[in-house]
Amino acid sequence: MTRRIIIFLSLLVVAASFAQSAAGQARPLPGPDVQQIYQRLLPEIEKIPAFDHHAHPGFADDPDVDAMAAPPDASEPLRTRDDNPELIAAAKALFGYPYDDLSAEHAKWLVAKKSELKKQYPGAAYFDLILDKINTESSVANRAMMADYLDPKRFPWVFFADSFMWPFNNRRETARNPDEGVFIPLQEKMLHRWMQQENVSQLPAKFNDYLEFIVRTLDDNTKRGGIAMKFEVAYFRPTTFSDPPRSQAEEIYEKYASGGVVPGEGEYRIFQDYIFRYLVGLGGRFHLPVHIHTAVGIGDYFNLSQSNVMGLESVLRDPRYHSTTFVLIHGGYPLEREAIWLAAMKNVYIDSSFGELAQYPAAFKDTLKMWLETFPEKITFGTDCFPYNEVLGAEESYWLGAESSRKALTAALAEMISENEITEARALELAHGYLHDNAVKLYGGKVH
Ligand SMILES: [Zn+2]
Repeated sequence: MTRRIIIFLSLLVVAASFAQSAAGQARPLPGPDVQQIYQRLLPEIEKIPAFDHHAHPGFADDPDVDAMAAPPDASEPLRTRDDNPELIAAAKALFGYPYDDLSAEHAKWLVAKKSELKKQYPGAAYFDLILDKINTESSVANRAMMADYLDPKRFPWVFFADSFMWPFNNRRETARNPDEGVFIPLQEKMLHRWMQQENVSQLPAKFNDYLEFIVRTLDDNTKRGGIAMKFEVAYFRPTTFSDPPRSQAEEIYEKYASGGVVPGEGEYRIFQDYIFRYLVGLGGRFHLPVHIHTAVGIGDYFNLSQSNVMGLESVLRDPRYHSTTFVLIHGGYPLEREAIWLAAMKNVYIDSSFGELAQYPAAFKDTLKMWLETFPEKITFGTDCFPYNEVLGAEESYWLGAESSRKALTAALAEMISENEITEARALELAHGYLHDNAVKLYGGKVH
């Protein structure tokens, strides 16, 4: 090789590396190609079968859809109201609804259409059909108990674990505000149902026996198909948890288990702190991921500052729980920027459900983009679908959640491609991760 050729080749290498670094430099605004990228990507993203990591499937008259209920007259944010016109678009897409409003007369058409489909697709086939229509392969059923009209192969169960924290006389808890007046009796009911399931007629007198009852319930729920336990504790008390010794919890339990005396708030919280941490520990032992509601919640008395997702940091970053997998349900919304940094822990994941319903896609896109740019392998898709009423059900809610999420995801990725952050191939990998693969990996083959 002549000297001149060597110099020429070295110049080429230098030029190529410059070209590469120019291509690799992100820019602060999307280019004019962003719309085209979005249009190209959307059909690809709609083809990805999803795993819905958080949902409440079921019919409006089924009280087991959740372990709790909305308090009467609770304020609803704009987009989750049942008069959201997008729900009419949902009914059109799912059922061929022919009208542009939901007048009482027209609503009858929708109710009749659904009951006709339920006859045509009896038992579990009806909700399987709904999942097929929105290209969701499986959806978590976060329910008090499972329903016989949901196919367990496509609706893995996530059961509730909060009620173990409220075994005493709850008079003071119930009286705190009108919302707790609805919530706490439902926790008592849930605890009673676990007791019935385990043939426990009254609370054991000894703390150790109470802990054994908890272990048995978890074990049986796992055998009944439960893949995770869920806490919605933020509705009932602050989500900062002290770390009391067992002896202290034992003393409180044995003082109040017989029921007559109302425990002081301080003592009750200490007992609950111990039980919460005990359950989190069991989550590691049983390979049962721990789902925790981390967001605003329904009810006008929901205390946002006391249930701030960052309050959980001392539990999430506690090395004693490194074998417990945590899923921050609703991604801390509206503190989703803080929440994603908690996913730095290898065992902490983020679920986006509710964010896609509380916000319109244009805003939810920014949430997903920020998450995708931080810990993309730790974020999972969910709808938080819920039956609205006798006319608009979990069906329309599923559709709206899935459509909003897919569109916001596509928009986030289109911007990232246009801004030179990622390639299109990488964007599709990230989309598969968020919509399906990241969540499915958590359960080690139990779901698909
Ligand atoms: Zn939910």
